Amino acid sequence: MTVSSQTVSHTGDYCCTSAKSGLRQAEQLAAESEQRTVTVGVLGLQGDFEKHLEMLRRLRDVMTVVVRSPEELQRCDGLIIPGGESTTVGKLMVRYGLDRAIKARAQQGMPIFGTCTGLILLAREIEGSDQYRLGLMDITVRRNAFGRQIDSFEIDLEIPAICDARPVRAVFIRAPIVSEVRGDVEVLARLPDGKIVMVRQGNCLAAAFHPELTDDTRIHQHFVDVVRAQT
Ligand code: GLN
Repeated sequence: MTVSSQTVSHTGDYCCTSAKSGLRQAEQLAAESEQRTVTVGVLGLQGDFEKHLEMLRRLRDVMTVVVRSPEELQRCDGLIIPGGESTTVGKLMVRYGLDRAIKARAQQGMPIFGTCTGLILLAREIEGSDQYRLGLMDITVRRNAFGRQIDSFEIDLEIPAICDARPVRAVFIRAPIVSEVRGDVEVLARLPDGKIVMVRQGNCLAAAFHPELTDDTRIHQHFVDVVRAQT
């Protein structure tokens, strides 16, 4: 008798738990499907902006805009500045009035993620160069920091603040490094020899490598989460 009543009671509990967890799942799905769609722009003046767009299109509830004018920037909740050639991108930014437009949006708190050339353009100081830069981060960068012999390389990088326990496969192409950080700049990743390759300060995030060139969407997802939290 006791055994059988226990059995019944267990079965009841089981049904109840499963119904509850089903409900929770449904609520979670509803909450997720109701999450706000955000618009992320990718600066499309030069360089590998297509790869960033492809990455963003794999994420949920994200619209993308190729940004080549202040009007296009106005539609964005966040901006990615991709890899390319930083002197060229800097000059084109100025030519199209995007220099002032990006700085104005940054001051209003729009999140910006710079990769490689994007990192260079976000820096306040560029070693040995007076090329145009936005200067939004209190960092000094060294362009082409790995020299001609090491044009490009890949390495597993720990980025605990963003990417849990599993390292990120980081692709470096004629990459810069951050040679100095000041103020409240946070170092997010270093190479094994200590070179700084990912930083954040306020609404700006910057990486010396190319997260758009692997299959791993975690860094883009992190940026989209930051953008969503800001809107
Ligand atoms: N070396 C380039 C520059 O100085 C950056 C390279 C890249 O974006 N992959 O602008």
